[in-house]
Amino acid sequence: MKRIFFALALACASLVMFAQPRVVAHRGYWRTEGSAQNSITSLQKAAAIGCYGSEFDVWITVDGVPVVFHDATINGIRIEDATYAELMNHRLANGEFIPTLQQYLLEATKTEGCQLILEIKPHSTAQRDERIVQRCLELIHMLKLQPRTEYISFSKHVCEYLHSQEPKAKIAYLNGDISPKDIKAMGLTGIDYHFNVFRKHPEWLQESQQLGVEVNVWTVDGAEALTEFANMQGIDIITTNDPEILQDILKKKR
Ligand code: MG
Repeated sequence: MKRIFFALALACASLVMFAQPRVVAHRGYWRTEGSAQNSITSLQKAAAIGCYGSEFDVWITVDGVPVVFHDATINGIRIEDATYAELMNHRLANGEFIPTLQQYLLEATKTEGCQLILEIKPHSTAQRDERIVQRCLELIHMLKLQPRTEYISFSKHVCEYLHSQEPKAKIAYLNGDISPKDIKAMGLTGIDYHFNVFRKHPEWLQESQQLGVEVNVWTVDGAEALTEFANMQGIDIITTNDPEILQDILKKKR
């Protein structure tokens, strides 16, 4: 009996020791032919190469349509002050039209095994922040994508409001200025911080592990930095523009 316990303990210890960070494609997998940041293609390509997740950014138009795009403006038009009709004919770098969140999520339902890392952009008013949270939740529920969706935001208000509306959702805060202990107290599930934050606060890695707060680091690119973070104890997820380079590094570590 003792031997079995010993073997089990060893197996658990090795799982912990060799736990590898998961790969999230930043704005989808876009550094590849035919793709573009935040395009539907970038989600399909992230899923096709077996990423744990594909990250994308969401704004809401003045007439209440959530759209997937990174910048606050597109061709000089401020998204949160524009109607969807004013945006719908603008194209991404690969020729796709700017996707609505609904179009994007509908395509997601046709892919498997890739988490949707949905970043809610901070809008100019609390009312707009709450409106986009509500609209995102409606669409996620309508398409039954709750188990595949994880939320991130730079806005503390968005994170807290989201948690109040969807207490079971995975929510990570992006802005790098709240300790894991306080994140846990807010009811959030993770921190998703710029890599320099972890160089400044290495103690937050262990603290997060002890508290069960998930750690995601952004945006780590290039083989050298990816190797550094792939070898760092306490990193659960790496968000990168180079998902295939990171996958190769992780394969060699096995
Ligand atoms: Mg983002």
